[in-house]
This record gives sequence, structure tokens and C-alpha cells, in this order.
Amino acid sequence: MLNYRNTLVVFSLALAGVAVTDIFKPVSVWLYIGIVLAVISLLTWGSIRIQADFYLRSVCSGDRNIRAVSITFDDGPDGLVTPMVLDILKENKVKAAFFVVGQNAEKHPEILERIDREGHIIGGHSYSHHFFFDLFSSRRMKKEMNHTAKVIFDITGKNIRLFRPPYGVTNPTVARVVKELKLTSVGWSLRSKDTVIQDDSALLKRIQTRLKPGDVLLMHDCKAWTVNRLKSLVKYLQDNGYMVKEIDQLLNIEPYVR
Ligand SMILES: [Zn+2]
Repeated sequence: MLNYRNTLVVFSLALAGVAVTDIFKPVSVWLYIGIVLAVISLLTWGSIRIQADFYLRSVCSGDRNIRAVSITFDDGPDGLVTPMVLDILKENKVKAAFFVVGQNAEKHPEILERIDREGHIIGGHSYSHHFFFDLFSSRRMKKEMNHTAKVIFDITGKNIRLFRPPYGVTNPTVARVVKELKLTSVGWSLRSKDTVIQDDSALLKRIQTRLKPGDVLLMHDCKAWTVNRLKSLVKYLQDNGYMVKEIDQLLNIEPYVR
């Protein structure tokens, strides 16, 4: 299996093999450089591809044989957008998951309370969503996660278990902290690219052409344009016989500590 530990073992063996060969018959320095570059590329790929389960296991999709998907939102709550997102979900009787940023939840406790009251699942997405979150020490990462969990607990009375790493980036430190805090890392299988794609119909088309049963969709409730896009998406799912399931049911996971 291609993961961090196996990569390090293979890398060490390859390097040792080349070094031993070098004693008897000099090898080109480019061979050493090639091996190191290959490993760096692999480690980087594993970091940015949460679905690869390279550093830790992340749940990213459900049963591919059942025509059901889950919708997830990252980076909120937002004072303007999240309430409109919640209105659409309510109108259509759809439940979603919100991976909230601790400092945003702290700023909008009433919205977080509404998310919970209306039956959506809440998970953590760090406290600061700092650009270099994945480079933090494990102590600082833990502090962020615990702080976010406390903010959520103080507002909803629920102890979160789900965590989505900011930017979906994982590494050995994220893996250690997730394990120590007994969290479940949740990824996605379909990135809507809703923060990048400007055109509504292009975005919907992207989702339509890629969508498969069991998908976990990644969206963001921090951009005003999400509202109309969500409306179109929900209509498309309903018109095409997709059930929108709560993420804990789709992925068969426990969202909160009991
Ligand atoms: Zn994010």
C-alpha cells in the first residue's frame, strides 16, 4: 500500500542499496538526486491528496452502489451567507455538514446554534484556518482543535469528533494530532471548486459530469454566489434521483462523542 511509512522504508532501502553499490562501483550523483526528488514528490502528493490516505485515514466517500450523496460546507459560519444556505436546505428538507472555523463560530454563535438546531452535522476545521496550519507544531495544532471544539461545545453542548484539515492538507503532525485527540478525519470525493469557478453554469456542469453515487461534495458557505449554486445543485440532485444523506449516515461514522 502506498503510504508514508512504506514510502520511507522503500526510500531508505533504495538509498542504502545505491550507497552500497557506490562503494564498489561509483554511481552518478544524479541517481541520489533522482531518488530524493521522487520521494519529495510522493510526500507532497500524499500531503495534498487527502483521498490517498497517505499519512492518515480520512473518510471521503460512501457506498458507490447507493444513489446517495452528502453536501458539506467549509470555512463558515458566515454572517450573511450561512443563514441563506440554511434557508435553502430547510426549504428543500436537505441536511448538510458544516466544518466550521472556530473563530467564525465564536463570532456567530446564533448561526452555529441554528445549524445544530436544524439538524445539520458540525465538525471542526481548525480555529484560525491559518494558511500555514499544516506547518504548525503538534502542540499548536492541538490547541487550535481543542479551542474550536470548546467553542462548539459551549454553543451546542456537543462534543465534536469530525475534523476536516484546512485545505485538505495532511502530514505526519496532522496525523498524530488527529490520532491523539481521537478525531475522525473527513475529506471529500468531489471538490466543487466553488471558490474558484466564477460562472454558475460551469460550476454546475462540473459537478454534473463528475458526480457519482456515494460522493461527498465540498462547498464553502462563505461566498454569496454559493446560495444560487446550492439551489441549482439541490434541484439537480432531486431531479436525478439522488438522495442527500447526512454525512454520518453516508460514511457510517459517529459525528459526536457520546
Ligand atoms: Zn477551508
